[in-house]
Amino acid sequence: MKKIAILGSTGSIGTQTLNVVRRHRDRFSIEVLCAGSNADLLIKQAIEFNPNAVVIADEGKYTIVQEALSPKNIKVFAGEKSMVDLMEMESIDIVVAAIVGFAGLRPTLRAIECGKPVALANKETMVVAGALVTEAAIRHRVPILPVDSEHSAIFQCLVGEGAIDKILLTASGGPFRGMTREQLTTVTLEQALKHPNWSMGRKVTIDSASLMNKGLEVIEAKWLFGVDANDIEVLVHPQSVVHSMVQFCDGSIKAQLGIPTMETPIQYALTFPERIESHLPRLDFCQYPNLTFERPDRKTFRCLDLAYRAIERGGNMPCIMNAANEVAVQQFIDGRISFLEIADTVEAAMQTTPFIPNPSLDDLLQTDKSIRTK
Ligand code: NDP
Repeated sequence: MKKIAILGSTGSIGTQTLNVVRRHRDRFSIEVLCAGSNADLLIKQAIEFNPNAVVIADEGKYTIVQEALSPKNIKVFAGEKSMVDLMEMESIDIVVAAIVGFAGLRPTLRAIECGKPVALANKETMVVAGALVTEAAIRHRVPILPVDSEHSAIFQCLVGEGAIDKILLTASGGPFRGMTREQLTTVTLEQALKHPNWSMGRKVTIDSASLMNKGLEVIEAKWLFGVDANDIEVLVHPQSVVHSMVQFCDGSIKAQLGIPTMETPIQYALTFPERIESHLPRLDFCQYPNLTFERPDRKTFRCLDLAYRAIERGGNMPCIMNAANEVAVQQFIDGRISFLEIADTVEAAMQTTPFIPNPSLDDLLQTDKSIRTK
């Protein structure tokens, strides 16, 4: 029985992880559930999965969770520090890192330092601190198993392989694919949240619309697979059936395909190196007579270029970019800036925030904080 801790159990990835667990109760049990502020759902999940402990990051919700779970033998904690500290629990076999944004960094890094394999959905952790995270994973001999569907695809293509020529990272193109800058000046939050193929949390959905998500994924892939960012080519593939591909030194290309669902990569990360049965519908090629590919419009969707620029500069630049993007996305959600101003906000932060070539964890925490408090 594999005992799982989920960081971000109440989100899109967290709830889909619980769907996988629900279907394979003979293999998995839940040891720890961590949520941000959704106390009601956390309580519901705890009653169903009976974990050893739960954490609610929002300390103001502690009493609600504690009172609801007091008849059960479930330990209840609150606050970020508790979440980080709980990663030390000996009984945890694997941690699913599914918090959104920079907030996922500290608990994920702590899990690695405690020797726990990590099933990683929280791409921002790799973007912000890829060097520190990969170094810690090597030092503690901890596998980082990708959950992001593109990275899971690449990971699956690489089994038994070496000699990568380049990675072909596919992108759906989001809801605004094909639009001009002119057309993008008036797009609304509601339109940005209507992703054509995937149902995800708000932040990643808006990142998909701006192509920042693809930029974050380029950086994530660089660290996960040890390739130069210039050897990662983004290809827009609106059907989201080819989840990504790897080209090898002899020109051969391997791809991983499937229906667009996160449950397959989540399950693969939880069972790797084994592949187990899934009830999910199979891909019917005849329903997709046209699988198309095109180059991204990097002039219109500037966030992708900003990400390439950030990783080329290195140091704390990806952290600056990520923090500014998190702030800008929230401002867009709150109606304070327009969609196109997301890229402007990120670029301005990249130009004005002090650069640190070899940042420590403290430097990164400070960089992130300085951008949020501007
Ligand atoms: P959601 O917004 O749906 O969920 C985010 C989760 O993080 C929730 O459980 C939320 O808790 C929790 N959370 C937020 N802030 C904090 C905090 N400060 N401390 C502790 N927990 C916090 O996001 P997604 O599930 O969509 O995405 C999660 C990560 O996975 C992101 O990095 C995303 O890029 C990545 N990803 C997501 C995919 C998807 O299909 N959804 C696909 C590939 C990658 P609460 O709701 O209780 O406040």
